[in-house]
Amino acid sequence: MNGESTCRACGTAITWAVHIKTGKPAPLVLAKEGEKPNIYAAPLPPDMVWTYRVAKKEDFADPIQPAYLNHFSNCSGAQMFRRPVGDKHA
Ligand SMILES: [Zn+2]
Repeated sequence: MNGESTCRACGTAITWAVHIKTGKPAPLVLAKEGEKPNIYAAPLPPDMVWTYRVAKKEDFADPIQPAYLNHFSNCSGAQMFRRPVGDKHA
């Protein structure tokens, strides 16, 4: 579960990445204009596995650095990702 894919719920192009520390997978989308990106992601050597972490302000000082959002937070079909376990808002 890594690299380019499409969202099963809404068809958006996503990039699967694993958290740099926890290894937890997340679907990332490139931030569009007007959105507030909060994820820094990049393929890291040696295996070039896509890895992410919460962005720091200085991550986006370089305008070439693409900025990402976690697609779970804005997917129109997000409810299909949610699991009953741990959902305290149900
Ligand atoms: Zn989606």
